[in-house]
Amino acid sequence: MKKYKISNIKWYLSVSFRKLRNQIRFNNLNKHISEGFVNKDILIKYNKSRVTGPEPCVCHAPLRSLYFDIHGKATACCFNRTYILGQYPYNGISEIINGENRTFLQNQLCRQNFMYGCQHCHKLIDAGNFEGVEARLYDNLKNQKNVPSEIVFELDNTCNLECIMCHGEFSSSIAKKQGLSKIQHPYDDEFISQIKNYIPYLKVAKFLGGEPFLINIYYKLWDLIIDLNPKCKIILQTNGTIFNEKVKDYLNRGNFYIGISVDSLDKRNFEHIRKNAIFETVMNNIDEFIKVSNKKGNFVNISVCPMQQNWKEIPDIVKFCNARNVFIYFNTVYTEGFAISELPEEKLFEILTYYKTSKIAAKSYIAKRNSRFFRNFISNVESWYNVKEIESRFTRKRHLWNYNKLREALILKLNEDESAIKVLDEVIDKSNTEFYLSDENVQTLDNTKSEDIINALKTESKDKIRHRMLSFVEKGKFGE
Ligand code: SF4
Repeated sequence: MKKYKISNIKWYLSVSFRKLRNQIRFNNLNKHISEGFVNKDILIKYNKSRVTGPEPCVCHAPLRSLYFDIHGKATACCFNRTYILGQYPYNGISEIINGENRTFLQNQLCRQNFMYGCQHCHKLIDAGNFEGVEARLYDNLKNQKNVPSEIVFELDNTCNLECIMCHGEFSSSIAKKQGLSKIQHPYDDEFISQIKNYIPYLKVAKFLGGEPFLINIYYKLWDLIIDLNPKCKIILQTNGTIFNEKVKDYLNRGNFYIGISVDSLDKRNFEHIRKNAIFETVMNNIDEFIKVSNKKGNFVNISVCPMQQNWKEIPDIVKFCNARNVFIYFNTVYTEGFAISELPEEKLFEILTYYKTSKIAAKSYIAKRNSRFFRNFISNVESWYNVKEIESRFTRKRHLWNYNKLREALILKLNEDESAIKVLDEVIDKSNTEFYLSDENVQTLDNTKSEDIINALKTESKDKIRHRMLSFVEKGKFGE
């Protein structure tokens, strides 16, 4: 039986209180959304889905969180890599934290301006994948004015795997294979000593990689956290290949919440995607992570990257998580050759139909929540499909025309010019053969200028005009 900690119950109560307060305060959210924000309706719908209720600030990451990348750059989160708040060691940590950039970005996001590197979240809101929006992770983080209540560390890329959708920046093994030298990160003892001042205030510390259990500096940081702020949640994302006595010891001493990456339940596909991993080892380790976490009343989650290579397995991965009572998270993959969004319309339709007809029982709290996340992911696929469908609708030949209709359309453009009409009647096909035109073809006809048509009818040979007419019927262009 899973233990639920008092802190989790307290968290639930405080979130419910904030939700009620925001619902009353921002009852008419429309009033608080900047004029000029294009898709107000979807933003209001997104706000209704937020765990702490609706509010004008679309994201609280800038003032509540801080992210460090492998090059020393500090940003508000790992998705916004363009709006830099500072860079260690050129800027000290207190300088970064107290700098104006954090407040500036926060103010922009309170005016629903996603232009400073936040397009990732904007796209997911627009696509209706509300549960996938990174910004919502910061809604229930404690507001401590300027002092971050969360720090995300992505300090080193040491990794034993060469996942097919990853690259050298995130995996030292891939970098090595590509003959690249290891990235030398700038995080030294001075960094540890500066960050130490902020550890007592942290509610959450997140560790990304590389593979966190292979990154030495993380063990130093975990020692500090366990020593100075043992209640701080230590959230990490592992590839699940490492579970040993040292890891177990840390998990027992610290307040760890483990996320494990799983992209397939089929040994062949799993080992193809997560190159160098052994499927059975990871499955076994998942059970070990769940065992230790359950004992402490902490949660485990499975992160999945839905891709062209594993789309069919997604419903089974949801069921796998439900059976183990663990949360599922869906990452959005944008990499060329992997992203589902780049598939053609027919394939997207097939995927959408497959997902929509997948039956997933959802009785427990976690299973219901996982189903909700799956439905949100389906919305994302649907939005990709809709984009492709609109594109193809424009170019699909779906309007039935005949030469008589084409004649009428052309006559409207001839401004009652008798001699041009006469030529047209001499050259136009009288068989009244039917043909199909697309929206694009009809638009081409609409956009063709009257003077160009009149000029062609009056100056060109009849054969050439017939050729142009045929070219329009067959290719949608009047041609040369
Ligand atoms: S809006 Fe999204 S991308 Fe921007 S800071 Fe917040 S979480 Fe990061």
